[in-house]
Amino acid sequence: MIANELSRYRPLRPLRTALLMALLIAVAVLVGMLAMLWPASWSGWSSGGLVAMTPAAGVRSPAEVLAGDGGDGTLRRIAAPVLMYHYISVPPEDADAYRQDLSVTPEDFRAQMAYLAASGYTPISLYDLNLALRWGTPLPPRPVVLTFDDGYRDFYEHAFPVLQELGFTATVFVITARLDAGDPAYLTWAQARELAAAGIDIESHTKDHPSLIGRDAEFLHYQIKGSLESIEAHLGRPAHLFCYPAGRWDEAVLAALPEYGVWLAVVTEGGIEHTTDGVHLLRRVRISGDTDLETFAALLRWEWDRAAS
Ligand SMILES: [Zn+2]
Repeated sequence: MIANELSRYRPLRPLRTALLMALLIAVAVLVGMLAMLWPASWSGWSSGGLVAMTPAAGVRSPAEVLAGDGGDGTLRRIAAPVLMYHYISVPPEDADAYRQDLSVTPEDFRAQMAYLAASGYTPISLYDLNLALRWGTPLPPRPVVLTFDDGYRDFYEHAFPVLQELGFTATVFVITARLDAGDPAYLTWAQARELAAAGIDIESHTKDHPSLIGRDAEFLHYQIKGSLESIEAHLGRPAHLFCYPAGRWDEAVLAALPEYGVWLAVVTEGGIEHTTDGVHLLRRVRISGDTDLETFAALLRWEWDRAAS
């Protein structure tokens, strides 16, 4: 009886063992593939072929990463003022009119941010605006974007503490060669990393801030793609936003941006409305040294004609 049973089951044992082994191997292979593929695709999609095996701090979710290259085909129009700042400091005594115009005092800046908080505005990142324009992701009421051109060190000293206090996000467009050179007027890479870790987007304003008009492909690649790669190398996360030097662009620049992985680009022309087919020419609202709080409030509603009168 026992012998019979043994003889009956014996042939099945190797089969069961083989099945079990196959199952274990399949599970191990699957786990291995997932471990390898998940982070790779996560950051690989976002950087146009550049594959990192481990997700860096601040890496965006797959949904956000995918959002950059397309959309759901719906043309949207969204009103969200993108404020444009340069210096956040008291201009030096000998400052010319140009520098004065580009400088908002820390006191005025704090008052403007307090106004946003008190008036129900919610600062969002340009990545949020990108998702909203391409995929219809909902935005909070009264969305506003804070952008800072050139990457001056006074952003770190005067603007960042206020933004942190209020829990506001922002975008800083850096001229990467100025950071490379250790120019004291500009952020250091260490400061840029600290800002990025605190939720501030550090994005491209080229390597050297040259005019991009009438340039060949090699020049554009070096200045634009080169600066994006520099940011990724220093911050450990890809950059997809671009700001044209002096707000100037031509067709060659516009055509090259998507190839370089640029999802959104900002200009200096005024306006608060954005459309899905204009993501590389986002209008902004210039905040100047002489912008008082009343004007600031009117600019947010794009009623500057009324404010000026
Ligand atoms: Zn600039």
